[in-house]
Amino acid sequence: MLKRGRSESRFFPQGVWIPLRQDATIDKLIRPSALPQKVCLPLQERANTIPLKPLVRPGSSVKRGQQVAAPSEKESLPLFSPVWGEVVAVEKSVVPWSAEPVETIVIMPRKDELLLPITMAKTEFSPDELRSLLYRMGVVNLDLELIGKSAPLTLIVNGCELEPYLTSTQRLLEEKPKELLLGIEFLVQAVEAERAILVISTENKGILEDLGDLIFAKKQISLEVFPPRYPLDHPVLIRKILGVPEENSLIIDLPLAVYSHEAVVLRQPFMEKVVTITGPAIRNPQNIRVRIGTMLEELVAQCDGFTVEPGMIIMGGPLRGQVINSLEVPITRYSRGFVFLPERNPFLETSCILCGSCIDSCPMGLYPVFICEAVKSRNWKALDDLGAENCIFCGTCSYICPAHIPHQKYLKRARERLVK
Ligand code: SF4
Ligand code: SF4
Repeated sequence: MLKRGRSESRFFPQGVWIPLRQDATIDKLIRPSALPQKVCLPLQERANTIPLKPLVRPGSSVKRGQQVAAPSEKESLPLFSPVWGEVVAVEKSVVPWSAEPVETIVIMPRKDELLLPITMAKTEFSPDELRSLLYRMGVVNLDLELIGKSAPLTLIVNGCELEPYLTSTQRLLEEKPKELLLGIEFLVQAVEAERAILVISTENKGILEDLGDLIFAKKQISLEVFPPRYPLDHPVLIRKILGVPEENSLIIDLPLAVYSHEAVVLRQPFMEKVVTITGPAIRNPQNIRVRIGTMLEELVAQCDGFTVEPGMIIMGGPLRGQVINSLEVPITRYSRGFVFLPERNPFLETSCILCGSCIDSCPMGLYPVFICEAVKSRNWKALDDLGAENCIFCGTCSYICPAHIPHQKYLKRARERLVK
């Protein structure tokens, strides 16, 4: 339910106060994962992207940190083996983010690991060199991000974590503040930004004090604390609240700033990341630093398995994530966490009671109930009038609806129709 009357509601009146349910992992230190038994690296890591080209074949021996796939277009990033081992297959596999099977490199790790030597000869970089390094290390393609941007540029580092259950970003914030700030400085230099704003949503006073002390010494970086009101972590809303135009700003998620630090200082390619494995069906929820390509079933085993058989597995958070049906899913650069719930969604859709809650809570000022009705009645002309193209798919309307109407389903159909 909406909690009206909190002082922060003047800050941004739409959105919703959501029970974040982060208690199970919010105070748990990030733990390293065990060496995976198998590594699966899909050559398409996200929906609607161009697959990478494999640089290895079955029988190839690979070292930890060795590049194993190259982008055919600049929109993708090079991919690295997170283990020393042998490629046993390059084969099609089913992944939840693609309707078609995706070509995947399968590597069997050896027991001992051989780390590639780290060359630390160069410590000073020009902006071009930094952007090139971050691209070659598979962290971020800043040249792509800078298309359509102009000076003066503000780098916004998004450290809000408002999806229920997930805590990997908050743990990085708490455990790696110095690395985070150095990573932000590298990114500021790389994109030649005038300033950086770190946006967080934590209510932890200890973190705020520590960060405040660290940031005090950094002239270019300032801190903004948003109330934990969903979906204020969406880039469109962050820019709106900060009053920074899109063409003068670049938004980077907080973990990428930490991984940028590792890439520049340790020359470590992006081959490990922190994910949250949690939910009431998990016996021992954890934030785990995991090798990319590790299978989800191995991470569940490292969390001591299930307390009850999960009825629903969500890749990402419950509001923006995707329901999946299998533990045979590899961790990718874009994984943030997995939530295991005991029951399938017990809420059945009923009729709209015209309460108006979806309209009150929509952060984009839309009329979700009317967009749904327009889709149901195939009144495509009305979609334009209702501004359906401005939906950011935050899921707030579905969350708040007492009739459990799946707005997202209709909003996606509206978007498809508008694209046509
Ligand atoms: S209509 Fe779109 S933007 Fe508005 S609450 Fe629903 S999902 Fe979010
Ligand atoms: S769609 Fe749901 S939230 Fe919107 S007016 Fe109807 S019952 Fe209320």
